[in-house]
Amino acid sequence: MSDCIFCRIVEGEIPAQKVFEDDEILAFKDIHPIAPVHILVIPKRHIESLDASVESDANVFGRMLVKAGPIAREVGAHDGFRTIINTGRIGRQEVYHLHMHIIGGGDPLPAMIKY
Ligand code: 5GP
Ligand code: ZN
Repeated sequence: MSDCIFCRIVEGEIPAQKVFEDDEILAFKDIHPIAPVHILVIPKRHIESLDASVESDANVFGRMLVKAGPIAREVGAHDGFRTIINTGRIGRQEVYHLHMHIIGGGDPLPAMIKY
């Protein structure tokens, strides 16, 4: 059994509210949503972070981006959304299985990060 929580979701060992799935990627609702729409899109294959990615990951990353719009519309974000990939300590990545947040439903969302 994997000790990676998102691998366990892929394997069906931990329940998740799935909103899209194909052979390479899975999208499901974030357990602690920060906005009315908060979806996580992950590669099914374990990739630790954006910083640990290699050339051969380019296809699955492309698929995650191409599907972002259809997934967002499917869950009710019809007029735009924000995608975020947190990376490493500085990026405050909490789960070390790469994931892209799709955040929306605010009208509009708060402004970008400010110091
Ligand atoms: P990060 O900070 O790594 O970019 O974001 C990790 C996200 O995963 C957080 O928004 C957190 O709420 C979400 N999360 C952590 N554990 C689970 C889980 O077991 N199920 C779901 N659906 N989301 C999770
Ligand atoms: Zn994993």
